[in-house]
Amino acid sequence: MILVDLELKTLADRHGYLCPDLVIGWRVGLVARRYLGTRGTITAECLSCALDALKAMGPWEINLDPIKGRHIYHLISDKRQELVLEVPLYLVWPGGELIELERQISRCEASPNEIAAYHSLIDRQVSRILTASDVDLFSQGELVFSQD
Ligand SMILES: [Zn+2]
Repeated sequence: MILVDLELKTLADRHGYLCPDLVIGWRVGLVARRYLGTRGTITAECLSCALDALKAMGPWEINLDPIKGRHIYHLISDKRQELVLEVPLYLVWPGGELIELERQISRCEASPNEIAAYHSLIDRQVSRILTASDVDLFSQGELVFSQD
């Protein structure tokens, strides 16, 4: 069991489950609140559950650019300053074992032990994302965090 922030729990309840991409969206939303406040635009180069979190967290205009299919977010303030956040692939990549288990589950071929192993791997990935610092989570981005 993972203990999470109440806002993240609410997002997960709405989303249906706590998944790694939702957690990434929540972490991006936390940075967006600091960087954009309540005004600005987010261009998301992703197609994932992260958007569910972002759409629920702020009043920002969200544009989708799913061409690259990665976790890259452009936070554009109303003063036209831009902060680019890119989540490194090692934090996004679920791993071959998890992908194989997911395939078995979707085909109804997984044993109870394999289903438990799947959930354990998901929890581990969620924990890695939750415990990463902003600098580690967004290490590929242009780190121009504004200090208030
Ligand atoms: Zn999800």
